[in-house]
Amino acid sequence: MKKIILSTLGLMLTAGAFAQKSTDSTTIQRIKAANPVQAPLTWITLGTQGGPAPNARRSQPASVLVAGGKPMMIDCGDGAMERFAAAGFAPTQATTVIISHLHVDHIGGLQGLIALHWFQGSAGSVPLTIYGPPGTDKLVAGILQALSPTEEIARAEQPDKWKMAASVKVVILKTGADLVVNSVRVRVVQNSHFDNPPGHPQDNGTQSLSLRFDYQNYAIGYTGDTGPSDAVIALEKKVNILMSEVTMRGEASRNAGRFNRRPATGAAQAAGQRQGTAQQPYENIHFVYQHLSPESAAKLAAAAEVQQLVFTHLAILAQTDVIAPTIIRQAQQFFKGKIVVAHDLDRF
Ligand SMILES: [Zn+2]
Repeated sequence: MKKIILSTLGLMLTAGAFAQKSTDSTTIQRIKAANPVQAPLTWITLGTQGGPAPNARRSQPASVLVAGGKPMMIDCGDGAMERFAAAGFAPTQATTVIISHLHVDHIGGLQGLIALHWFQGSAGSVPLTIYGPPGTDKLVAGILQALSPTEEIARAEQPDKWKMAASVKVVILKTGADLVVNSVRVRVVQNSHFDNPPGHPQDNGTQSLSLRFDYQNYAIGYTGDTGPSDAVIALEKKVNILMSEVTMRGEASRNAGRFNRRPATGAAQAAGQRQGTAQQPYENIHFVYQHLSPESAAKLAAAAEVQQLVFTHLAILAQTDVIAPTIIRQAQQFFKGKIVVAHDLDRF
């Protein structure tokens, strides 16, 4: 059985040797079934869990956007490199990553990415370019510093090993950025996930970004983490696929306990003050104004007139196939296009 699975993967993947882990026959059938007509862009969900809690069945948020055969990683949660390998890629192919925001579930795999890309590469390899909001530079500098003993060990054995610092570049993205990355037009806007007024004690200058990718008259949008947002609706207008976060309050907060019932502070408090609900507990505000329920994601997708809505970043405890019918039923009331709930390693 195992042999058959691996040889099937060999047809699908560019590097079959990296495919042994984290796949099962169900996953392979989904990969085979998805996307029979090749669109100019392919989106592969590496990790579909949302929120900074490990999940046995879903990896932390990370995806790959493939354009012209070149992969671009979008967010890099913990476990991203294992899933990247399961999707058939080698670490040296991870030359571009775009980070939507600096919450731990979206950046937890960056150390592994930086270290493995450097370790597997050499001076002639393409450096890793990390695009991200303000603060990404500080984050990457800290990771490089933390990895310096590791680099010293490798250099003792291989004096001509390329310098880790030379293997990474950082490009800061801010709202309104409009650039071309690997032939793909990339546009970003600040969304409502960090809903701080400027100068608020919790405003450290970073931003939470939503993204849009256009390539050969085909477009995929990615909400990142956001609440309802007119800026995101405008950005994602008429995309072919909108990859959206989804958060279900009771489901997401059940294991957070008292944390979520405390009074709102920081960005949630600021959002609550604007909405006149600042006296309510943190969870009432955070999950309503800084995340998307199935209903609010569907309303956003309808307002943006997108063709297809795909839920990823499931800030939910239940198993995907158990909760998916509920998510779809709730969303269908407000969005009439195709709605899918993604699994890890699905392709769109
Ligand atoms: Zn998140």
